[in-house]
Amino acid sequence: MYGYTGKLLEVDLSNKKINEIKIDEEILKQYIGGRGLAVKILWDRIGIKWDSINPFSPENILLILTGPLTGFFPGGRICISGKSPQSNGVVGSTVGGEFGIELKCAGYDGIIISGKAETPCYIFISDSYVEIKRASHIWGKGGKETLKTLLNEGRMMLQKNKLGKWREPAVLYIGPAGERKVRLAAVMSKLTHAAGYGGYGAVMGSKNLKAILVKGTGPLPEVFNIEEVNKLIKCACKECYENQALFRQWGTGYGGYYFGNVTSSEPIKNWQEEWHEEKSYSVTQFERFWVKRYWGDFGCPTTCLKISTFKMNSENIVSDNPDYELQAYLGTNLGIFNPVENIYLSSLIDELGLCGINTGNILGFVGELYEKGILTKEDLDGVELTWGNLNAFALLIKKIAYREDIGDILAEGIYRAALKLSEIKKKDLLKYTVQSKAIAIGAHGVRSGLDYTDKISYACSTQGGDHTSVAKLPLDHPNSELTVLFYDSGVVCWFNDWAIQKDLKWKFIKAVTGWDITEKKWYEELAPRILSIQRILLLIGGPDIKWIPLKDDENPQRFYEPLPSGPAKGRYVDRKKFEEERKEYYKALGWSEKGIPTSETLMKLGLNDVVQFLKQKINGFYLDSTS
Ligand code: SF4
Repeated sequence: MYGYTGKLLEVDLSNKKINEIKIDEEILKQYIGGRGLAVKILWDRIGIKWDSINPFSPENILLILTGPLTGFFPGGRICISGKSPQSNGVVGSTVGGEFGIELKCAGYDGIIISGKAETPCYIFISDSYVEIKRASHIWGKGGKETLKTLLNEGRMMLQKNKLGKWREPAVLYIGPAGERKVRLAAVMSKLTHAAGYGGYGAVMGSKNLKAILVKGTGPLPEVFNIEEVNKLIKCACKECYENQALFRQWGTGYGGYYFGNVTSSEPIKNWQEEWHEEKSYSVTQFERFWVKRYWGDFGCPTTCLKISTFKMNSENIVSDNPDYELQAYLGTNLGIFNPVENIYLSSLIDELGLCGINTGNILGFVGELYEKGILTKEDLDGVELTWGNLNAFALLIKKIAYREDIGDILAEGIYRAALKLSEIKKKDLLKYTVQSKAIAIGAHGVRSGLDYTDKISYACSTQGGDHTSVAKLPLDHPNSELTVLFYDSGVVCWFNDWAIQKDLKWKFIKAVTGWDITEKKWYEELAPRILSIQRILLLIGGPDIKWIPLKDDENPQRFYEPLPSGPAKGRYVDRKKFEEERKEYYKALGWSEKGIPTSETLMKLGLNDVVQFLKQKINGFYLDSTS
């Protein structure tokens, strides 16, 4: 087997058992790695009782997976997955950093974590040496202190184990929000990187798992054709370097003004508007705070990351740029158009281990309820949540992370919080939420028709509101969820797809693995297979929320309201056209008119076991025959 170590590390926290398991090559050929492999492992291990598994129960498994391209293709990432406490389906949530490369060099393609530790712990991996260590001294600590303590301890352990003078290990960790099972909690990497979609920080917290440290001293796995891989790495790096100049200069933060002003697709005050002309919020205003302007994840010549720092009330504020999504969700969506305030909130979010997109989304929702008088100062425990009020939003963020007062309801995430508040206020408040399948819509609106997203993008995505994985036609569109699935399974950065020649990724995976994964095979067989299982798990959902096929493949109500300002004023999503496009999307994937993979499609994809399971266990409810 090439490109893989062929082994997964399995850690059962309840029984303190550590095992290595071999992965079948045939499984890897079909599911590749990352999100694809996660879907397969989840289906095989807990699919049969999926609807009864609480994502916070010890039965849920947390998957930390690399892919064959990790370490080779520019821009290494790691994919985090499991049963999502947001959607109750599966989300492949990727984050940058060296973790995936260290893990592969330690001899593992991934980690499967099950059970629940009795007391807070962290997992330390140094090649084949694996230990579950006590973490009570860092439980409750924020990002900076957690990371500093763990890096010191990691270095000391590496020295003690006579592993040479290695630099610090790679770390994935959670903040106070994850510890309290806040459904908006992210798994953090470095100080400022977050795997936010899915809520897997809360899954780590539910397992009493504060962090995972890994150091690998071995080489990356052998590849099928080393000369070809070397040639392709040079070629990909050259293309990324030459074709991503603007991205290198500004990063996604460029969007801070562009998406608001040019494409009219930036969330403003809970998406009540999507256009602004606040020049104070253009990237050049953020640039003033950059102390590191060309920073990249492992092996990435694009170097789109930037680090901003400044001092506020003698506190060191550090944040990565912020990227566009956080400029929007922790800025314009809260009526904040001041870079300093936005960087401050981004830094706070990172410190507490929250997802900036999901948190900024729910803050906007609460802001609108406050504006409309539905929620009062008393409901918010004294917080005056007017648009642009930095201190009020910062206070609410802390209340969410620590589940204090109203924060305890909001910590349940936008969908569940809206249901609860609707009950309290005896009003339908779901209509003010801008989410899909309980996952915040990414900061790229669809009403103007000028951004890369469109009518069906979020409504039909198997990852809900995830802006990186949107439903799109044709299925092989560079932004489609099937294309992104390749990168999430690879596991490498999708941004670099924009820079390289179309066929380079297919040559790359062949040179690494030796397998003939062509474009046709990916879009007609491999991606639909993964997506079909992911879709079925999403529909089965449970135990607290289940999505109704078709009915819940819906846009937020706000997207059917006309844009009130800007050059795209008056545009909205046309329901009839949306429904037609949704139908076409299902058809293209071989799904029924309700968006359920048909038994014929599943059989064609070799998923006979899935068909049998659905027929026997849930009376065929999710199959064409009775749906
Ligand atoms: S393009 Fe940017 S986000 Fe992607 S790997 Fe490179 S530096 Fe990281």
